[in-house]
Amino acid sequence: MKDIYLDCNATTGVLPAAVAAASAAMAHGYGNPSSTHATGLQARAMMDGVRALARRLLGSGEGRLMFNSGATEGIQTAVLSALCALRERRDAGQRIGSLLLYGATEHKAVPESLAHWNRLLGLNLTLRALPVDSDGRHDLAVLDELIGETAMLCTMAANNETGVISDLTAIAQLLEERGAHACWMVDCVQALGKLQLNLAATRIDYAPFSGHKLYAPKGIGMLYVRAGAPFTPLIMGGGQETGQRSGTENMAGIAALGAVLAALDDGVTFRSHGELAQFRMRLAASLQSALPGLVFNMPFALSLPTTLNFSVPGVSSKELLDLFDAAGVRVSSGSACSASKALPSYVLEAMEVPAWRASSAIRMSFGPLTDEATIVAACERIERCGQALRASCLLPSAPAPLAPLAPSSAVRDGVTELSVDGRSTWLLADAASSSCVIVDPQAALVPRLAAFVRCQGYRVQAIVHTDAPRDQGAARQSLQEALAIDSTDAFDAQGRLAFGAGLRRIDCGDTQVYLLGNSLAFTGALDARVVAALLSPDLVTPDTVLCGSRDDGSICATVRPVQPAVAPALQLDTAGLAAWLPAHPDAIVVDVREAHEQAACMGQVFDGHAVHSVPLSRLAGAVAGWLRAPQRPIVFFCRSGNRSMKAAQCLRRLGHQQSFSLNGGLALAPR
Ligand code: PLP
Repeated sequence: MKDIYLDCNATTGVLPAAVAAASAAMAHGYGNPSSTHATGLQARAMMDGVRALARRLLGSGEGRLMFNSGATEGIQTAVLSALCALRERRDAGQRIGSLLLYGATEHKAVPESLAHWNRLLGLNLTLRALPVDSDGRHDLAVLDELIGETAMLCTMAANNETGVISDLTAIAQLLEERGAHACWMVDCVQALGKLQLNLAATRIDYAPFSGHKLYAPKGIGMLYVRAGAPFTPLIMGGGQETGQRSGTENMAGIAALGAVLAALDDGVTFRSHGELAQFRMRLAASLQSALPGLVFNMPFALSLPTTLNFSVPGVSSKELLDLFDAAGVRVSSGSACSASKALPSYVLEAMEVPAWRASSAIRMSFGPLTDEATIVAACERIERCGQALRASCLLPSAPAPLAPLAPSSAVRDGVTELSVDGRSTWLLADAASSSCVIVDPQAALVPRLAAFVRCQGYRVQAIVHTDAPRDQGAARQSLQEALAIDSTDAFDAQGRLAFGAGLRRIDCGDTQVYLLGNSLAFTGALDARVVAALLSPDLVTPDTVLCGSRDDGSICATVRPVQPAVAPALQLDTAGLAAWLPAHPDAIVVDVREAHEQAACMGQVFDGHAVHSVPLSRLAGAVAGWLRAPQRPIVFFCRSGNRSMKAAQCLRRLGHQQSFSLNGGLALAPR
């Protein structure tokens, strides 16, 4: 299965002509452009040619145009230059204003550089984020208010997460009308190759660029500085780049950038705005039909034609990312993910989109070199992802059940853990009686749980809590309302419920334990007191799997003491696995990706080996079987190695010392 790369706002592949140019620069044109012999002169001629082309394409006029390592360096240089000049002016008794104003959706390199140099230079100006409106564009009324106090203004030409294009003309007009003296930096990273630029004709003082966002390699960039704008070199040394940026030039990078600029100049290599907009419409249509309820987080008319940013109700960015990755479609999460909590995107927060959208966003971005076949294939895979997710019955906005893509893709039976912010909700499903029990429901999961119940046509036998719920039962209440059910506590006087292997409520002080047969127990706190209570009347066996309401990453436990790891290293790499499998013919290979990821995945994983499917969220239900003697070696794998590591660690803690994780996951497996 060929990868479909739709993460071009993060970085792009390298244009073949750029690879050839870099390779030629390294193989033959390896001279140092500062050398005065012929080899050096040839290198200099190449570099001068690239600079001249860049000057023409960017319209840099009399301004400076220096090569550097990329936009982060360009941003430093611009900020340092402006702040040094501001300090000099202030020291000379001139009024400079008190604010360093930056767009609230700027790349982190901007506020971080401002804060750094402001502190280092002892300027002590106030950093202030300029708000944006719901379209992601700068609030010009606030800019108007603050511009008189602004010493430096930083805005971007187009946003990397949403593609929203700033109204630079309106900002320039405002600066003009107010006679503003502020230094103005415009981060042009996402604009190169996508927006027309004529820099010297504008009021912009500094414009950083990065090669790797437009098919040049990483480590090469450019900085434009308007003629007459303050300039201080960031790097001093041998005086290269006419003293503006010392250090021997990255000639391979410059040659490659030159090839990209030549492609931009030829007018045929890269696709037109209109063609790209067409591609985006096709992707958008596929997304909307595959993922009902999907909402776009950017205004199409005001954003780059190569960027889509969207959220799907009830589905986290991590889940969508895993799903797309399984289908071989590389996209990125618009929100940073920490260990157990999805951090919302500050860009979307600044646009004041609802919290659920800011913390579940996905960015899909392509580039001006993307071809039609890629878009067609991407649309097909998006459709497959949608089918897999709808068949899982966990997509709140798709009430109708779908035939599963693979037998495992619907969670019709067994125990599933759903985690939010470090807490676990357990969904107990019994296919035989078409009913389910929900343990410790959380508000954030209500739409999803309701979707599951409706989509499967299940009867809810009970909604229970193991601890006093922190929300005083509000989530339970809203789940009952969503499903239009009155009461769900059908336990008899002995605390028993006819469900699956039999569900029994045991009172352990502040904690209620729910015992399913004698193989699984759902508990709140899993402390020594609860364990003792369970052990004293022999309610559980040493193999009973205990599932807690707190998600600390351990998945499940037993009443046995935690086992120290005594077995061989936990991780196997792909090369190691190839040798390990034949030596362990009885080994069990387990895919712990979620069922919808497995369903979206095309092609065979691990040729020649039976692969068991046990999603990590359903691991607790499978643990008891694996713990029973005779233990067979188990190797878990997933997308990146994180979930399989948790599974292997869980089993080792429970005493299964022959459990392993595939290091790096399928991402590093040979294809
Ligand atoms: N500015 C924007 C808008 C970006 O998207 C990026 C890269 O993600 C940067 C700056 C930093 O660029 P570089 O990786 O070249 O340092």
